[in-house]
Amino acid sequence: MTVESQSLPAPAPEVTPEGAPFWAATADGRLTLQQCAACGRHVWYPRYVCPHCHSTQLEWVEASGRGTVYSFTLTTRGILDYAGCGPYVLALVELAEGPKMMTNLVGVDTSTLSIGDEVQVVFADTGQGNALPRFRPLAEP
Ligand SMILES: [Zn+2]
Repeated sequence: MTVESQSLPAPAPEVTPEGAPFWAATADGRLTLQQCAACGRHVWYPRYVCPHCHSTQLEWVEASGRGTVYSFTLTTRGILDYAGCGPYVLALVELAEGPKMMTNLVGVDTSTLSIGDEVQVVFADTGQGNALPRFRPLAEP
């Protein structure tokens, strides 16, 4: 079975002060992460303090948009906006920069989907000035 992006709703996120720069970038189709100026590590989800070294010197940087499937599940019974939208893939993607992001996989064949598969970000427009990052199989060069 192939899960396509158009089968999924794209509800607008709740934008917190910490996450506002992230959501603003999604409007331009850019995936961004915080990077700590003190220890150099990337951070997801948005916050004020580095979880690695407790520095408050977090800066927004552009991410590669690439990652690998760390874990996934085929969800057959969604709730809220996802109720009745059919089976979809909920996944934890390990970004190339290190952090893991909870997301949906789209355009994937669930019969061959595997941990470690390479994926790239795509954006689903919420219609509210931002977009939800989702991931699809990495296109062959
Ligand atoms: Zn740090």
